Amino acid sequence: MEEEYKKLVTKIKHYNPNPNLELVSKAWEFAKLAHYGQERLSGDPTISHPLAVTHILADWKLDSISIASGLLHDTIEDCGIKKEELVDEFGEDVANLVDGVTDISKLKLRGSKDEEFVDNLRKMLLVMAKDLRVVFVRLADRLHNMRTLEFLSEEKQKRIARETLEVFAPLAERLGIGEVKSELEDLAFPYVYPDEYKKVSELSKPQYKKAEDHIKKMKRVLHKKLGIQGIRAKIHSRKKHLYSLWRKLERSEINWDFEKIQDIVALRILVETVENCYTALGIVHNTYKPVPQIAISDFISQPKPNGYRSIHTKVFGPGDRIVEVQIATFEMYEENEYGLASHWYYSLMKSGKASDKVVERGFFAPTEKINWVKQLVDWQKKEADSDEFIRAVKFDALAERIFVFSPKGDVFDLPINASPVDYAFAVHTDLGAYIKAAKVNGKMIPLSYKLKSSDVVEIIKSKEKRKPSHDWLEFVVTTEARREIEKHLRKEGLKS
Ligand code: MN
Repeated sequence: MEEEYKKLVTKIKHYNPNPNLELVSKAWEFAKLAHYGQERLSGDPTISHPLAVTHILADWKLDSISIASGLLHDTIEDCGIKKEELVDEFGEDVANLVDGVTDISKLKLRGSKDEEFVDNLRKMLLVMAKDLRVVFVRLADRLHNMRTLEFLSEEKQKRIARETLEVFAPLAERLGIGEVKSELEDLAFPYVYPDEYKKVSELSKPQYKKAEDHIKKMKRVLHKKLGIQGIRAKIHSRKKHLYSLWRKLERSEINWDFEKIQDIVALRILVETVENCYTALGIVHNTYKPVPQIAISDFISQPKPNGYRSIHTKVFGPGDRIVEVQIATFEMYEENEYGLASHWYYSLMKSGKASDKVVERGFFAPTEKINWVKQLVDWQKKEADSDEFIRAVKFDALAERIFVFSPKGDVFDLPINASPVDYAFAVHTDLGAYIKAAKVNGKMIPLSYKLKSSDVVEIIKSKEKRKPSHDWLEFVVTTEARREIEKHLRKEGLKS
């Protein structure tokens, strides 16, 4: 165990030149004592769990407060330690974090009635909004529990795995920690959908191999060409995760046809600067013909709302097989995988000030990435009734998202099946009051049109304010739009 702890310290020193090791080692000694004599169901001493959780937090390059809180995260719940004791020993921040993690881990988000679910989710959001680091500790905790789920009873496995799939994976995605989202999904998959899991893993094996072989050749060729241009690059293949592969295979337009899945293994090129990204893109397109019609997606000049940045393109690889190529800088890659967690790390490296103070500030910096958390907290403060709130969380925050553009190129993040009316209200409530018609990619479309990612949406405005149509309620999907439309219709009702 001490060996593992030493490894943790080495890991921390590697990314944080100035960590508070006194705090960390004090937390370690405290946690060991508190968990003394306890065993996990796996037979390991209990302390192995907080230690593993903290290793995950260090992989995410978190600050010393988070690290200490990771080591201590179960001491209130499992060892009867009082919060006041933690305040005395470690200060308010650590105590609040551990207390927050304890609070939200008591909340069962699945298997409960709808009202309970809403209430629990509210509580969780309130804790999160106070200090986002709570969520990171909670996610690391869940990740390690998922990795060791085999030791629990079948009933618990199912419940925890389902909750992971429905709440924690989307949460990780919304925080922009893509890698964690995928790992959580893949860990939960066999417990929640055992038969489907078996089917996909068997059928996909030869497919992964075939795609991997194709890409090997491309890797060599591109590496050489980039080298000639003097560009230092890392090229690797990225296998599509099993759960997201299954979701894609299930789509009606794919219907289990592996030929239609072009990104089962994608080629990922990492370079040092943004400029090099575009040079690399040129080299790729010069070497392999880009697939016509499928425009490249440039998420570097237009990042996704959760902060994701990369250039995606599709080319005809060897044997005319379509291959997806993703290009990004090393920094973008880290941010895409670890999101907010690595956000502060790079700002810290840039500022050259390597102190925990800077590290902490990263979390409170105004960032678009956590806007949706604030938004949800706002909604629930507005005394929204439960129905509305549950719709908001389920369909707005945790549902799958699409990304559409305004004619000026601003990106809007909307739930799947959103209509131009939803878009208008997302841009501005006022724009919603002037909807006359809408265009998508330059063509007139009905207002009930279901938008797709990368659509450019233009609202044709009326000269004067118009009242929203009752029919719109049939197809709008965002809470914002529904709320506004209903408000106007209510006013109308009062007048007549
Ligand atoms: Mn735990």
